[in-house]
Amino acid sequence: MLPCHESVYANPSAIHRAGQDAKKLLEAARRRVADCVGAMPSEIFFTSGGTESDNWAIMSAAAAVETGLSGGGRGRHMVTSSFEHNAVLKPMETLASRGWECTLVSPGKDGIVDPEEVASAVRPDTVLVSVMAVNNVAGTVQPVKEMAAAAHAKGAIFHTDAVQAAGHIPVDARGWNVDLMSISAHKFHGPKGTGVLFAKIPRLPIPLIDGGGQERGGRSGTENVPGAVGMAEALAESVERLDEDSVALSALRDRLIERVLRIEGAVLVGHPTKRLPGNACFAFRGLDGLANIVAGLDEAGIEASSGSACSASSKEADHVLVAMGHLDIGLRHSLRISLSRWNTPSDIERIADRLDELIPILKIHRSRH
Ligand SMILES: *Cc1c(COP(=O)(O)O)cnc(C)c1O
Repeated sequence: MLPCHESVYANPSAIHRAGQDAKKLLEAARRRVADCVGAMPSEIFFTSGGTESDNWAIMSAAAAVETGLSGGGRGRHMVTSSFEHNAVLKPMETLASRGWECTLVSPGKDGIVDPEEVASAVRPDTVLVSVMAVNNVAGTVQPVKEMAAAAHAKGAIFHTDAVQAAGHIPVDARGWNVDLMSISAHKFHGPKGTGVLFAKIPRLPIPLIDGGGQERGGRSGTENVPGAVGMAEALAESVERLDEDSVALSALRDRLIERVLRIEGAVLVGHPTKRLPGNACFAFRGLDGLANIVAGLDEAGIEASSGSACSASSKEADHVLVAMGHLDIGLRHSLRISLSRWNTPSDIERIADRLDELIPILKIHRSRH
């Protein structure tokens, strides 16, 4: 990314040579990203991140119907899952306030959405089905290909929020046969504030952001060349090491799960194996509001999260746990520990040791109040 700031900093839309050099870097980044996710470069649109990509996918599908551009004969109905990221749920709510109907499909207790349930939620008037590729709290991997087929069988288009998948498990837009797909760089060690919307040709998404007509008219605004270059580099590196890293990470994850489940009242959130290689997510019976666990881990130099990073301070039960039916057994909050290729076996023991100390103390503290 440094050369993009220091020497190749011109505007890629400029026709002078410096601009064209920047344009070359941008297009090389587009090709690299496309290669990593089973897409063609012309299907890759750079955005400001996962949130923008999700909003764009959903609002563009809605706009196509509202303006009569496409989706003729289809109604104002969408299908999504109840444990999506807010970047999907909130735009759906906005559409609901404009008279759209939205059917929420719930995942099972294992944190996996059943494609049959998606199939039965899709109606002849459904415009779009949007279900994430990997859940951002439970880490569970969803049957994207089967869900896309269920949408297509009834003529709906399919979007997947693959923000948690890219760089962590194989992502294959063509093989999955998705129409729209969102990616964000900072979820695979890339820079923040940059992402991608994949849109299958010839389906060009209707712009959310209008102006100079960059990104083939789809997304105006001078392109974030350093961001795109950094994203491509980080994604290519993650994809190159994917097999090797997933074997090592799954072993660390399984060891952590094994250790933490020995703690009284500990429950694993989500399927034991159909989950991201680096995701371990727990809930603890008798412990509510896990902010004090997060703080206790932080004191020991361990950065974990409760709920998703964006809603961790909320006193309400985590919507992901609610969707997975965990509220019925009194579990409202989760502790998510994400491992990366820089973690070691001794980190795992340290995390588990610290939880061994913390949880009984917190339980005693709680029972006194
Ligand atoms: C992080 C995340 C987003 C939002 O991406 P940003 O780049 O942070 O806007 C969307 N969906 C999922 C599943 C995420 O984990």
